[in-house]
Amino acid sequence: MANILVVDDAAFMRMMIKDILTKNGHEVVGEAADGAQAVERYQELQPDLVTMDITMPEVDGIEAIKRIRQIDPNARIIVCSAMGQQAMVIEAIQAGAKDFIVKPFQADRVVEAVQKALR
Ligand SMILES: [Mg+2]
Repeated sequence: MANILVVDDAAFMRMMIKDILTKNGHEVVGEAADGAQAVERYQELQPDLVTMDITMPEVDGIEAIKRIRQIDPNARIIVCSAMGQQAMVIEAIQAGAKDFIVKPFQADRVVEAVQKALR
């Protein structure tokens, strides 16, 4: 069981991810709709794990990963994005993401990635 921050600019996507996580015993302690908000919430809430969208207004997910990892080098961040091109996956991993889930995703894939990142 982990305290998780869900970051996505689409409310329905946050809801969907939250639903998957809570059904699997995790607690969604906060949500953010852009990268800047994600950094703020991360500092406030100090979650065990973050799910991070890439394409968001203002500050995107890659930049948010970099900022969060600067604040907390041990931050566990999993990307959930439709931008599944190899170059984007590599950029996210280099920025500090632990895993990259391509939308549309299966609930099992999300649960497995969270489990793995928490180990
Ligand atoms: Mg988005």
